[in-house]
Amino acid sequence: MPDRQTPNADDALEDLYREVILDHYKNPRHLGQVQGNDTVAVELQNPTCGDEIRLSLRVQDGCIEDVRFEGRGCSISMASASMMADALRGKSLREASTLNAAFKGMLAGGDVAEEALGDLVALSGVSHFPVRVKCATLAWNALLTALGTANEAAAGHR
Ligand code: ZN
Repeated sequence: MPDRQTPNADDALEDLYREVILDHYKNPRHLGQVQGNDTVAVELQNPTCGDEIRLSLRVQDGCIEDVRFEGRGCSISMASASMMADALRGKSLREASTLNAAFKGMLAGGDVAEEALGDLVALSGVSHFPVRVKCATLAWNALLTALGTANEAAAGHR
């Protein structure tokens, strides 16, 4: 009888460090700080792993015009931030919070909204590692705070 194929930790780990993740980790997109008016900056840490991020974005007319990040941490946290920045540019605040919900839903083991998430689907394997979920969601938690501030600012300008 052939051995039955059972999922094991090695397979899952391979999944975790898929090429796209390593690529974003080694060559992060949108590094730096957004400067100037209408800029929101948020700093956040993930004590479990030691990841740190500073996310900054500029919102104009309800759209994310520029988004950049600085930080240090594990490959999952940095790749997630890089892919997030890629995905956010040009999105409206509402689209950004929808994307945030879709990403977190995926990491909670829910549906993988491939069309909405694009490259971010590469991080779906992280949902099997609760500790690493904190790494993957660090940038997104910073985004949530930034979106809240941006929405308040927009309301104040009216
Ligand atoms: Zn981490």
